[in-house]
Amino acid sequence: MPPATYQVWWASTEGCSQIRGDLGRIKWYVVPGVSTFPTDEGEKVGIRIQTGDDVRIVIAGNYVEHEMVVRHEMLHALLNRAGHPAEYFQDRCHLTWETWAASRPTNEAPPPPDGDKLS
Ligand SMILES: [Zn+2]
Repeated sequence: MPPATYQVWWASTEGCSQIRGDLGRIKWYVVPGVSTFPTDEGEKVGIRIQTGDDVRIVIAGNYVEHEMVVRHEMLHALLNRAGHPAEYFQDRCHLTWETWAASRPTNEAPPPPDGDKLS
């Protein structure tokens, strides 16, 4: 089971996107002790893998408590389509490094990794 915080973050992401979904259908995996892990698209902090109705989200261990990284993948799961439509990832939910930092107090802005490692 994902931690209770993930339920709060899921609700926040449903709210900003105005899309409802079932958190319980997502299977969570962690790559412990790393900031990024290799994928077909290069090194990433997180990735969503969908196979039919099966949805898996893999998060680098160092980012499992990072709200933007986790909610970025949650938004992918809610949208259930390819790409990063600006309406959702930037305007509605601020779930990119730049828009997230701009939406937070300066002292809460997370340090971006070396390049955009979101998938
Ligand atoms: Zn993404």
